[in-house]
Amino acid sequence: MTEHNDRIYSIRMRASKEDRHISGAERIVRHDGIQDVSGELIMRALTHEIGSPDSIVVTIEQVNPETIHHITALPFVTIPTSSVKEAHEAASDILEDAGISRKVAEHALSILKNGPGGDGNNMRGAIIMDSRTGARLEPDCYRGVRASRMDMTKEARDVLMERLGQVGLGARFKCISDSLILASKLIGTTETVAELCWSDDPSNINGYVATRKHGYVRIPWMKEQNVPIGGRVFFVDTPIDLEAYILKIEQKAVIVSEISDVRGEQPLESVLTHCK
Ligand code: AMP
Repeated sequence: MTEHNDRIYSIRMRASKEDRHISGAERIVRHDGIQDVSGELIMRALTHEIGSPDSIVVTIEQVNPETIHHITALPFVTIPTSSVKEAHEAASDILEDAGISRKVAEHALSILKNGPGGDGNNMRGAIIMDSRTGARLEPDCYRGVRASRMDMTKEARDVLMERLGQVGLGARFKCISDSLILASKLIGTTETVAELCWSDDPSNINGYVATRKHGYVRIPWMKEQNVPIGGRVFFVDTPIDLEAYILKIEQKAVIVSEISDVRGEQPLESVLTHCK
């Protein structure tokens, strides 16, 4: 096996039940990691809190190592919020600070709140939103666009784990690391102005806004407890070559190999003024 170990593979898992998306995850591994990591992702699909899937698809594809980009994670901070109203206002404030109008920010929040896939359903991927007009640009409004081919090195994971532990978030490592990888890849593209996200897991009420200026700003209380609806909005600058953008989001292989500052709770004002 070791003679193949310079080969790199993208592993992607998606699980669904009655055609409804339950969970998905991505990794980039060497040849000798394929079996363990595939097993981990399958276990993750089987033990998801929403329930047991009736379909699990694992895709394993070789990636040319020369095409992999190594990037630094966005700086991480949490702002304290204690209600959905407060959290959504904070998210709008940050988006506005990043140049997106209040109207477009509130439009995005209301789409996620009502179920971005229509009829109160989740999407498998993200909405692409024109940051100037609020128009939805993703070609398929049920599926959305799925960011893919991304991971974090073992060394960077260890550093992130330690820094999250120092701010009392060690227990949230898994979901924070997944979304920090995604946000860092996304904000690294020139077309993306910001990302808005909250989880569709019923027990996870946290979300975040990510921008180049503010980094990854974790926002608790983006939805009420036990609500199984969440989603992501990728705000883009327009005019845009949509096909090239989607290709980059889906296909460009990115590995986070450096971790930036990880700060505990900071007042919203300091996050906003800190960056002005
Ligand atoms: P999660 O944070 O995994 O609970 O995901 C919340 C929502 O974000 C999902 O319902 C999807 O709509 C979207 N999402 C999850 N993973 C991705 C991804 N890799 N790319 C784009 N959107 C995603």
